[in-house]
Amino acid sequence: MKKQTRGFSTNAVHAGEASHRFGDAVTVPVFQTSNFLMNDDKYSTDENLDNVYTRLGNPTISALVDKLNVLCNASYGVFFSSGMAAISSAIKPFVDRGDSIVSCRPVYGGTLSLFEELAHAGVAARTFTATRIEEVPPLIDHSTRVIFAETLSNPTSRLVDIENLAVMARSHNTLLIVDNTFLSPFNFRALEYGAHIEIHSLSKYINGHSDVISGYACTNGADLLEKMWKTMSTNGSNGNPLDAFLTMRGAKTLGLRMQAHNRNGEAVASLLSRHPGVSRVEHPSLVEDRPACFGGCDGFGGIVYLELPSKEQALRFMRNADLMTEATSLGGVETLVTMPSLTSHAGSSEYDLLAAGISSSGVRLSLGIEDCEDLLSSIMEALSVL
Ligand SMILES: *Cc1c(COP(=O)(O)O)cnc(C)c1O
Repeated sequence: MKKQTRGFSTNAVHAGEASHRFGDAVTVPVFQTSNFLMNDDKYSTDENLDNVYTRLGNPTISALVDKLNVLCNASYGVFFSSGMAAISSAIKPFVDRGDSIVSCRPVYGGTLSLFEELAHAGVAARTFTATRIEEVPPLIDHSTRVIFAETLSNPTSRLVDIENLAVMARSHNTLLIVDNTFLSPFNFRALEYGAHIEIHSLSKYINGHSDVISGYACTNGADLLEKMWKTMSTNGSNGNPLDAFLTMRGAKTLGLRMQAHNRNGEAVASLLSRHPGVSRVEHPSLVEDRPACFGGCDGFGGIVYLELPSKEQALRFMRNADLMTEATSLGGVETLVTMPSLTSHAGSSEYDLLAAGISSSGVRLSLGIEDCEDLLSSIMEALSVL
């Protein structure tokens, strides 16, 4: 079996192989402070410890985390109530007043809000252009604790050179935290290229059916796991077992779905890039010199960003195609369309939008797994009435 597809069979994790969530070396502080519980045999086995209370652990959640760890080639993972819970729990334990973060620009709108909140708490975020990591070293100083990047920046779909960012992070002794939601572990696994923590909003491709909000962070560092897990348990940002069950069911078809998203993303980007009425199209399949770490990608998913000559035309296009539903999410089986300036980035100023490369006539497509020819003709029809 090819390396990339390892773990994508439905039986990737067999019960007997499922490792204890914390490995052998990690002690979990919450149980240390309640040692009186340990005096009773009832609580003394690992299995009972894992399942003593659902905020701390649950068999369904453990089964999902074990599977996601296999998909991401990670030793440890934590399941959260949302992608944002995962992102904030992966950053907050590692920064303090006076520290700084270096982040790619643009980033997901919720992450941008988190950076604003952190700025009020005395943690500054300095930003670099997603496609230009040479801007990073001058931004790093003794206060820098975290480099944050999205593998594919949201919403403009630009690849960020994770492998070389990891080299920079190591030479400056900072953490590299990567939000890999847009590519999914089927196409790319950030830990394999040196990221310390990889994050997924499970609400998107991994669950894939637009009916769950949850998140996941994984790492190979036991110390990093311990900090994220503690933040999850004290903040109560644990995911719940029903969402874990639904996400597990979705994850079983991730490989099949991603092949369809990859195919549709590439075909639609190609069609739009050849259409004279479209001013700009972004999808990694259209870029010739991609960073080397993406050389083994099976594809680049179904997120395509385009711009039309005017905002009115963008609105008409968005509302005209019968196979596209106007909605803000992404990564599900059905094709969704949105205008980032009206939704995910509505809180950004004109200046920030410009800096992030987002136009008020910009449209983000999340192509689903529909038949490719049907999608192409639906999009052609929507373009024909502009
Ligand atoms: C949706 C999304 C998030 C946030 O995930 P939620 O599950 O909605 O909290 C973070 N990053 C990216 C890239 C996303 O698309």
